[in-house]
Amino acid sequence: MSEKAEKGIFEKIVDREIPADIVLENENFLAFKDINPKAPVHVLIIPKKYVKDFNGINAKMMGEMGEFILQVAEKLGVKESGYRLITNIGKDGGQEVPHLHFHLLAKRKLDGHFG
Ligand code: AMP
Repeated sequence: MSEKAEKGIFEKIVDREIPADIVLENENFLAFKDINPKAPVHVLIIPKKYVKDFNGINAKMMGEMGEFILQVAEKLGVKESGYRLITNIGKDGGQEVPHLHFHLLAKRKLDGHFG
């Protein structure tokens, strides 16, 4: 049985039921452009397998996801200029979509504010 009854928006993107501007994909992860970008480059990186948030990650997924994120940064050409990775967790973390994702923001000077 699946962990939850209804398929979430990011699972629908994984299953190609709703469109997304895909940047990179492999067997386990998907990177696509955020629909409401907060920087010239704003990409979301998700595991294809449903995990609600960072609390559900394990060492294997963290390692593989880290490698994938580096491939995304390479493809976007931002490794040298720099970028910011954010993952929001739960209500106080400001998470809106309950499917683990990292935001990769780049191509503008990001300030140091949190929230
Ligand atoms: P968070 O607040 O960390 O859960 O971020 C959710 C992000 O998902 C927001 O930045 C939204 O703009 C983005 N988002 C929501 N729906 C879509 C979609 N269909 N395609 C791309 N990005 C989306």
